[in-house]
Amino acid sequence: MIDLRSDTVTRPGSEMREAARDAEVGDDVYGEDPTVNELEHRAAEVVGKEAAMYVPTGTMGNQAAVRTHTERGQEVLLEYESHVYKWEVGGLAQLSSVQPRTVDGGERGVITPEAIEDGYVAEDVHRPGTGLLCLENTHNSKGGSAIAPEKIDAAAETARELGFPTHVDGARLMNATVSLDVPPERLVREVDSVMFCLSKGLGAPVGSMLAGPEEFVERARRHRKLLGGGMRQAGIIAAPGLRALSNRERLAEDHENARRLAAGLDGIDGISARDPETNIVLIDTEMPATDFLESAAEVDVLGVPFDDHLVRLCTHLDVSRKDVEAAIDRLETALA
Ligand SMILES: *Cc1c(COP(=O)(O)O)cnc(C)c1O
Repeated sequence: MIDLRSDTVTRPGSEMREAARDAEVGDDVYGEDPTVNELEHRAAEVVGKEAAMYVPTGTMGNQAAVRTHTERGQEVLLEYESHVYKWEVGGLAQLSSVQPRTVDGGERGVITPEAIEDGYVAEDVHRPGTGLLCLENTHNSKGGSAIAPEKIDAAAETARELGFPTHVDGARLMNATVSLDVPPERLVREVDSVMFCLSKGLGAPVGSMLAGPEEFVERARRHRKLLGGGMRQAGIIAAPGLRALSNRERLAEDHENARRLAAGLDGIDGISARDPETNIVLIDTEMPATDFLESAAEVDVLGVPFDDHLVRLCTHLDVSRKDVEAAIDRLETALA
C-alpha cells in the first residue's frame, strides 16, 4: 500500500519507540514532566519565541490560541479555506464565541494588507471589533503553498497597526521553512503566536506546539486545561516529539518526491497535476475525484478527495522515491 492520504499516517520507528519507552516523566499539569519541559523549551527556541506549550493536536493549539487572544463576540479575520475556519468543527463559534470574517487569499492563500484593512471592523456601540488575524503556512487547501516571510510580516504589521494580534497556523511551518530556505524564527518573527505540528511531516506519533510570549503561553495553559488537554505523564509522547524536531532538514526529500510525483502524473491522460511548492500535490481529475480514488485504491494507492474533481496526495517520511515511481506506474495502468 502506498498511502498518500496525509503526512499524518507515518508510523514511529524504533528510535521514537525507544525514546517513548525510556522517557523521564512527571505530572505535566504540575509542570513536573522533564521531557515535556525540554520539548517546550526546544520548540520555543526553534521558532524564536519566549515560550511554548505542548498540545495533543494542532486543532487544540489553534483553538486555544484563538481563545487566548480574543474576547467573546469579536471578529477573527482569516482565509475562507483556512484550516481554523473550515476544518475545526466550527471551534471559533463553539469554543471562543467569536465571529469569523473570511478573506479570499487567492490561489496561494495569501492575505494582503489591503484585505486586512478592508476586513477590519473598529469596535463601537454597534460593532464587535476585530480581535485577531489568523494566517496559515503552508496553506493546506491551496496545495501546500509556502508563504514568504515578507508577506507574513506585512500582514502582521498591518494587524498590529490596527490594534490586534496575529496567529499563524503553521501545522506545516517546517515545510515552509525548508521550501523557502529561511529559518523558522524568521518566518514568524512579526507574529504573536504560532502553532506547528510534530505529527505531520516531522513524523511524531502525536502532538503539536503552541508558541508565543511567556505571558500568552501562561494564559493559554488554562485554556488547554479547559479543552481537556492537561495531560499527566505526557513525556511518553513528548519524547518522540523531541526526536521529530530533528527531522526538519529531511523534509526536502518529501518536497523532491512531491515534484517527481506531480511531474510523473501530469503526463497521464485524465490527470493534470499542479506544481507543488512543498509536500502536497493537488491533481485535477477528469473523472469525479471519488471514482478516481476508487481506481487508485484498487492498485493500492491512497489519496483524499479535496473537491468534485480535485484530489490531494501527500508525500512523507514513509514514502520513498521508489514508492513514488511505483505510484505513478500503478496510476497510469489503472487509468489506461
Ligand atoms: C492538520 C492541520 C491542523 C490540525 O492538526 P491536528 O493535529 O490534525 O488537529 C491545523 N492546520 C492545518 C493547516 C493542518 O493541516
